[in-house]
Amino acid sequence: MSNSPESDQASTQLAKTTCPYCGVGCGVIVSKDEDGYQVRGNPDHPANLGRLCSKGAALAETLDDEGRMLHPQINGMPVSWDDALELMATRFSSYIEEYGRNSVAMYVSGQLLTEDYYVANKLMKGFIGNANIDTNSRLCMSSVVAAQKRAFGSDSVPCSYEDLERTNLIVIEGSNTAWCHPVIFQRIRQAKKDNPNLDIVVIDPRKTATCDIADMHLQIRSGQDAMLFNGLLTHLNDRGEVNKLFVENCVEGIDDALAAAYESSGDVQTVADACGLDREQLEAFYALFARKEKVITLFSQGINQSSSGTDKVNAIINCHLMSGRIGRPGMGAFSLTGQPNAMGGREVGGLANQLAAHMELENPQHRKLVQQHWRSPFIADSEGYKAIDLFNAILDDKIKALWVIGTNPAVSMPDNNRVREAISHCDFVVVQDCMQNTDTADLAHVLLPAITWGEQDGMVTNSERRISRQRSFRDAPGEALPDWKIISMFADKMGFADYFDYTRPKDVFVEFAALSGKENNASRDFDISALADLDDKAYEQFKPLQWPVTFNQPVGTQRLFEDGKFFTPSGKANMIAVTPRSGANAVSEEFPFILNTGRVRDHWHTMTRTGKSPKLSTHIAESYVQINTEDAQANNITEDNLVIVCSTWGEVTVRACISDDVPAGMVFIPMHWNDQYASSAVVGMVVNPACDPHSGQPEFKHTPVSIKPVKKAWYGFLLSRRQIDLSSQDYWNLNKGHKLWRYEMAGNETPGNWADNARTLLCASETDVSWMEYFDQSAQCYRAARLVGDQLESCIFIGPEPHLPNRDWLMALFDKASLDDKEKAFLLSGRPTESSEDAGPSVCACFGVGRNTIINAITKDKLDSVDAIGKALQAGTNCGSCIPELTALLSEAGK
Ligand code: SF4
Repeated sequence: MSNSPESDQASTQLAKTTCPYCGVGCGVIVSKDEDGYQVRGNPDHPANLGRLCSKGAALAETLDDEGRMLHPQINGMPVSWDDALELMATRFSSYIEEYGRNSVAMYVSGQLLTEDYYVANKLMKGFIGNANIDTNSRLCMSSVVAAQKRAFGSDSVPCSYEDLERTNLIVIEGSNTAWCHPVIFQRIRQAKKDNPNLDIVVIDPRKTATCDIADMHLQIRSGQDAMLFNGLLTHLNDRGEVNKLFVENCVEGIDDALAAAYESSGDVQTVADACGLDREQLEAFYALFARKEKVITLFSQGINQSSSGTDKVNAIINCHLMSGRIGRPGMGAFSLTGQPNAMGGREVGGLANQLAAHMELENPQHRKLVQQHWRSPFIADSEGYKAIDLFNAILDDKIKALWVIGTNPAVSMPDNNRVREAISHCDFVVVQDCMQNTDTADLAHVLLPAITWGEQDGMVTNSERRISRQRSFRDAPGEALPDWKIISMFADKMGFADYFDYTRPKDVFVEFAALSGKENNASRDFDISALADLDDKAYEQFKPLQWPVTFNQPVGTQRLFEDGKFFTPSGKANMIAVTPRSGANAVSEEFPFILNTGRVRDHWHTMTRTGKSPKLSTHIAESYVQINTEDAQANNITEDNLVIVCSTWGEVTVRACISDDVPAGMVFIPMHWNDQYASSAVVGMVVNPACDPHSGQPEFKHTPVSIKPVKKAWYGFLLSRRQIDLSSQDYWNLNKGHKLWRYEMAGNETPGNWADNARTLLCASETDVSWMEYFDQSAQCYRAARLVGDQLESCIFIGPEPHLPNRDWLMALFDKASLDDKEKAFLLSGRPTESSEDAGPSVCACFGVGRNTIINAITKDKLDSVDAIGKALQAGTNCGSCIPELTALLSEAGK
């Protein structure tokens, strides 16, 4: 299947829809030809203008029914929808009767569509009558919500993506945009090419792929962001960069904010020392910010996922407010949302401290409005349990029933052992998901099969407030149903049928849109009342729009606060006095390193979708811990060692990746791996549960840990056309390749007989196979391969050390219908024949171009630029996600 935009096969266009991964919200066009589904960027979608990243470009590879949940189940047995919902209604009703309305809860997801999210919130807050519904957006966005509400009186993102192309300075703070929001990164790269005046400053403790376009990289010490931005505030004040007219008319709190800033950060040397930066570099950044009027500060999880995330966001916003760099083209503090509908979730009141349509639980007038609109018997009048508190409340026996929808807290939550304990402890757990086997689903009493991307219809909102349609183009497998439908069916069982009698997503959306306009009159930022009259055709043909969408502004609103009016009681924005705080838990002798966590380029969340794609699984095949050279040497850790990373809360065992891209004293582990893909790589097990006091957002970027190499008796890998159960091995990691499964393994004890063991694992007893084997007892080295006819079926390589032959050439042999004699002869050496090339690990996922191929071409063909590599090998010419790696390879080669 080709995702190349150049594909010339006749194909049928199926749908214009939206990518289901990150908050960039790219429009995609799905078509089908004789090779199957094709996915390409939608040139008319304003978020991406035809671009896609590697994940979006590989979406077609994820469109199968493998691993899908197909039927409702009770305790592992398939049942009818009626039986499953009847049981749920009985149990929820009995808990409510015996323990009160607060004894039941929902935990939902930024992956849900707006309509699903709205219905779930309506059910809980209006009909069950409590606010115990929180969302995984608590883990990524809630500090921005809290900070924007403090500053603007509303959870409003002021900017548009287009502002990135109209600015002269982009400060990328706490975000590996190149990997986490790749199409935004592509837009910035292009903007920089088009505008020689555009400077890029990256502020991040790690040197990431985003630094590829940076004019300046401030490798700040972990957690010191508020210190740095308080210092900027004092610098701007000292240099007369206060926009007096704007501050006088539109801003409050400047004196207190400045006093706090001078208190912590009045002396630039003190700030430089605290941040671990050179004074000259810091002053250069401050001077640059002061000099450039058009500045965007683009920030994400490096700011939000902190025990002082809300204050950090406010420290950034303070600088934009005081200098008037907001509400005008090319200016503003711009938060990038993590998930495809994190913003939509905030709109419908998805968090436990919100009401729908940006209304507030604590506001009696808002409660009355919402209750009237819903015609509901109740309305929640106090905030419910936020994510961390929710799972604690289960352990405290305060929550008896938990309904999890579209998320995997047994992987994604911090202090994960405790969260798993809570789910296991809970009297009644329902998991509604599209996948049968997730770490959370494995702990549930009732499973409800939901539809997923490609089958769903509804709306999502991206980071720039742009509402877009997701459209269905394939049938749902088994008995899977839309989330809004399942929730409505449950509501029916609970006796609320009249209030949830939706027949299609549009019914839900127009009800929600109408609510947003109720007694609004520009008093609330979120207003999409002009969409309340959409008929079926208009809903189907809906084109992306940025809210507010009102009768005065029916084409949407590109930029907020252009009139200098905010949504506070006074109409003025608030500058907030910020006292910087370090991470909640300090390093110690026992735990001397700071653990940082985040994404890799080609995976998404807990890999339920991207793990299906061989293209996406080849870039980084195994979980790892990135360790600075100095720290690795001091701890006797070498590349590819297995390492135990341990904190007060738990531990993981992952592969060592030694790199000075991470500073001494810090280690980094990706967030994606889980029990379905690895024996011990759930980084949430290690992450501390400290939270921001304002937002409840956990601190994923700062956990004190220790690192220790672990010596196994043997190490190995296994490649096989069929999946093999290796769950009994001491260490294993599963990865999907093209026409094969790849397993990395290690064990504490050497099996008595490797030959027997390998034959059992690889099913060598079957009759139609030929078996090749090599065993060097003294070197403790065992290798075997199983062929069916002349085709490679599986192979296994075992040795006493982690350094084993490169897998890439062996994996490429699985593409061949038959091996020639030379390939067979070289097979157990694991080294390519002279005539065949070992492409090396994947760099370009779109065109499958490996590292060795690129290095050889750079050397032999004297390629000296990314463009030259693209012309020669195609690498980097489709989605562009690998361009930072191509640049790094050129630099390594001295180009
Ligand atoms: S940047 Fe990539 S993952 Fe994010 S929405 Fe666009 S194509 Fe999807």
